[in-house]
Amino acid sequence: MTTLPQTAPTAPAPTAVTPEAQRDHQRLKTTRATLLPLVNVTLNLLLVGSGGAAGLREALGGGDAFLERAAFVGVYSLGLSLTFLPLSYALGYLPDRRAGLLRLSPGKWLGKWGQRTLIGDTVSAGIYLGLNTVFRAAPTAWLPGAAGVITALLGGLALAQPWLSRRLTRIEPPKDARVERIAGEVFAQAGVRLRQVSVAHVSGDTRMSNAFVQPGPRGAELILSDTLLAGADDDALRFVIAHELAHFRRRDLWRLLGWQWLSLMTMVGAAATLLGALGGWAGLQGAGDIAAIPLLAATFMVAQKALDLLGNALKRHMEYRADADALRLTGDLDAMRRVLERLGHDNLSDPNVSRLTEVLFHDHPSTARRLAAGAAVLTGRA
Ligand SMILES: [Zn+2]
Repeated sequence: MTTLPQTAPTAPAPTAVTPEAQRDHQRLKTTRATLLPLVNVTLNLLLVGSGGAAGLREALGGGDAFLERAAFVGVYSLGLSLTFLPLSYALGYLPDRRAGLLRLSPGKWLGKWGQRTLIGDTVSAGIYLGLNTVFRAAPTAWLPGAAGVITALLGGLALAQPWLSRRLTRIEPPKDARVERIAGEVFAQAGVRLRQVSVAHVSGDTRMSNAFVQPGPRGAELILSDTLLAGADDDALRFVIAHELAHFRRRDLWRLLGWQWLSLMTMVGAAATLLGALGGWAGLQGAGDIAAIPLLAATFMVAQKALDLLGNALKRHMEYRADADALRLTGDLDAMRRVLERLGHDNLSDPNVSRLTEVLFHDHPSTARRLAAGAAVLTGRA
């Protein structure tokens, strides 16, 4: 692996990548995936149960006017994000930086956190306000309105995503001809038109790798992170590109969008049922009360975690299928092994994670299971 410049001169030496370090990091990720949603749900329930949410609604004018409701959502979202900031720092930034996964200085990390929080809070505020408006206008016949809000939001996000990723990351044409040559070969072999190859410069922030085929009206754009390019030989790169191309040809992005739409509708259904049943609990005034938003958020979180079990199974299935397609194109299991081992090394993921952990938390199968499935594809057993 090439050595990349650290953003801060005081950056600690990264932890050596040993099986022990990979298992430790896996445990940390599991802790994060369990603890953060639990804290989120507890805080939201406390906020409503203590009468704090109803109090905030009154302090902001009562919630009858749209602006009063928007102010409630703004104060609530910002307050919750700020409450989570120390947790994100202690459980996210610090251990990831100690392990060498993140290269950002604390100040730069805080800047990025602010940027992402602003975008995330704006999106969730849009959902909350939209659904609140629907619940107020049609407390029992909310289905068409909710479907409209969710379709508009997911559609808007999908359209804005290419623009947004260019605001958050420096994305430029590649400097050497190698990437364009290999990408051109793989796309031509598959008979897919390649519009553009781009490199995402993330190595100043992280050592983790990423690759993606972005669909567009004028053809596909292949985006590879500079961290991936730094250490990948030609055959490894060919496998990564063939794998991402498989996701594109299978329209996995659209399938995921469809799944997200269905998940969100299910979450709204769960929230509408609960809010309707709770009536005037803790000073609430029915499902259309803006002070019920923290309860909506808590229901969303619980429903989301339950739905993730299904969604992650779907994503793992897509990964196996993209691996199989890529192997049928390249026939190179050894390149696949080098790619997965390097990703496991760089991302500090456990190559032999237990089936239970995988089912509960992971959207990618373990390296060991992917390689076994890949070998079966090449020997004609799958
Ligand atoms: Zn994939």
